[in-house]
Amino acid sequence: MLAKRLENLHPYVPGEQPTDRVYIKLNANENPYPPHPSVLDSLEKTVRANSYRLGLYPDPDVTELREEIASMLNKTGGAFWSTKKSGETFCASEENKIPFTVTSDMIFCGNGSDEVLSFVFYTFFDSDRPLITPTFSYSFYPVYCDYYKIPMNKIPLKEDWSLDIERMTAEANKTDSATIFANPNAPTGIALTRNQIREMIKKCPKDKVFVVDEAYCDFGGESCIPLLAEFDNLVIVRTFSKSLSLAGMRLGYLVSSPKLIQAVFQVKNSFNHFPVDYIAQTVAKATCRASDYYIQNAKTIASERDSFTEFLRSRGWFVIDSATNFVFAKKDGVNGRNAYEFVKKNGILIRHFATPGIEDFVRITIGTPEQMTKLKEIMKNL
Ligand SMILES: *Cc1c(COP(=O)(O)O)cnc(C)c1O
Repeated sequence: MLAKRLENLHPYVPGEQPTDRVYIKLNANENPYPPHPSVLDSLEKTVRANSYRLGLYPDPDVTELREEIASMLNKTGGAFWSTKKSGETFCASEENKIPFTVTSDMIFCGNGSDEVLSFVFYTFFDSDRPLITPTFSYSFYPVYCDYYKIPMNKIPLKEDWSLDIERMTAEANKTDSATIFANPNAPTGIALTRNQIREMIKKCPKDKVFVVDEAYCDFGGESCIPLLAEFDNLVIVRTFSKSLSLAGMRLGYLVSSPKLIQAVFQVKNSFNHFPVDYIAQTVAKATCRASDYYIQNAKTIASERDSFTEFLRSRGWFVIDSATNFVFAKKDGVNGRNAYEFVKKNGILIRHFATPGIEDFVRITIGTPEQMTKLKEIMKNL
């Protein structure tokens, strides 16, 4: 009964999602802070006052929300919080102005950035040449390559776990290929600067897209949105799941040139006209208007991350410098799987990957200060 194509399907495996609240969840890079009260007000009041809208199909073009996202990006500079090399933090809007005005025709919205990524793979990557991606990056990329039968050229990370920029650009040129990676990268947490990415794009094929997934950019990365003034083959993927505390709602978006955005709309309209429902559009609009609150949360998470990194290092752990809301760490003599199980037995979920090459590591999402205090107590016994 099943179609033959199912034989070669290898689904993505997310972090555990227990439905009760027995565990403290530090395993899926979710935000520990709830949405701003004004968001819940809008959900209740707007939906109640316009309840007839639940009986109608939502706006397929997501018009108002795309305008709100554009204003949020123009106001914040595209990243909530950045870390300078010196370690001090600053709000991106103070230093990182976008050198043009982001307009709503540069935005595409979908049902989580996972779905948005699926549209990106379908729209831009052909099966006649390999897609360039690092060996370790977001593990959904190989899943979609499988799904759409797109070959991959996985470029190993360097000794220090950073991207091998030279090799990635050389390989992209060799096969005239598109490129995709996350910046900051996952699960390593390392961020390239905007300048490093500018130099990469300059050296890559101009007629193939260059995709940067900025899921974690708000916790310490530099956004590539300003580079859209220089490159019309750049596609930036963003999500409301991490810095905007809405993983349970499902909303992701793209920022790119109007021409490429149009192409993605065409694909979306060939698959599902209405992936962003009325409630999601309402809640997300209110979220964009409360960006000051989320900037504060990103700042708190970034400083908690830095003190947790120090804690682990003082106890002999190897911790990669992270520009995200998680840390990737390992310790000699501690098995990654055992560390995960020990912490779970004590009531906290963290993430362990069985993937060869990173199986010694655990990935720990940064929670509230109270949650991190509990975790530190547990990890003292590891
Ligand atoms: C979490 C994550 C996503 C998925 O985000 P959703 O919008 O929740 O689907 C995409 N890319 C990266 C790198 C992520 O870490």
